[in-house]
Amino acid sequence: MKWLQISLEVDPELAEAVAELFSRDTPGNIAIEATHIHAVEEEDHPVSPLRVSAFIPIDEHLESIKHRIEQGLWHLGQIQTLPKPIFRTLHEEDWANSWRTHHRPLSIGKKFMILPPWISPSTGDRLPVILNPGMAFGTGTHPTTQLCLQAIETHLRAGQRVVDLGCGSGVLSIAAARLGASEVLAFDVDPEAVQVTEENIRLNHMLDRIQVKRGSLEDILREIRQDFIGPDLLVANILASTLLRMIKQGLHHAVRREGIAILSGILEDQLEPVLETAQAHCFQLVRILEQEDWRAIVLEVI
Ligand code: SAH
Repeated sequence: MKWLQISLEVDPELAEAVAELFSRDTPGNIAIEATHIHAVEEEDHPVSPLRVSAFIPIDEHLESIKHRIEQGLWHLGQIQTLPKPIFRTLHEEDWANSWRTHHRPLSIGKKFMILPPWISPSTGDRLPVILNPGMAFGTGTHPTTQLCLQAIETHLRAGQRVVDLGCGSGVLSIAAARLGASEVLAFDVDPEAVQVTEENIRLNHMLDRIQVKRGSLEDILREIRQDFIGPDLLVANILASTLLRMIKQGLHHAVRREGIAILSGILEDQLEPVLETAQAHCFQLVRILEQEDWRAIVLEVI
């Protein structure tokens, strides 16, 4: 069988949006590739731009899938300028290779390296976070995820208990467990995210330390009521509007007193209302992290 590869080089920030668009029509057959590879020792942020590819079997469905993707790209292009997609025909052997070589290790923060499962985790001093790609959100390329990883590596201590609210691929839960978290509870409202997180937990051999459930803040609060100590650290990388709602609904009850909450997914101009609301609801600001126009805040529960 032959395959058509459609690829687009975009900024890391856009990569997930393009991958998500591709995944509607080609679930599982997507690759996000660094166009420049950082050496393991380098500690700066990954790679810009990224090449996002979709692989479509060349058969009777090709034209309609291609058409839908082109339409999707056109719509996305109305919001943010996109380069023209590049089309390439691949033979079965090329496709198999190209699929694998497209996923390369990604160094993030000072401590982590994100890897696909078929690369052996010889990551130097870095802690491997193995993620099966093909899933749109949580490949580690998005600035909001990277800010969370940086905050986790600074604030998490070994033996602590963690909640990951909106776990996506499970990237943050796995990173926390790698740093020595004794127990991680991961929640997501999306059943697909729960399933992908489960697979990734298994790939990292962390079934004994990470539990994933479908649910949101209400479910966490219900669980915590039975265990009155509460987790030491909560991380939530969700939209600012959702974070605001959660803060008002008692997000601080999901963390123990003097515990840490890392909130990400906040654009620069959304920062003030989120901070003000947090400070009015038992949170104290520890620090603000920034990457491009994204902000993450580290808060302590008082
Ligand atoms: N934690 C991952 C994924 C972030 S994407 C990362 O940092 O890369 C945000 C995730 O939050 C999505 O998987 C989405 O399904 C989930 N989400 C959105 N609203 C939510 C809510 N109210 N409660 C729980 N999860 C939510």
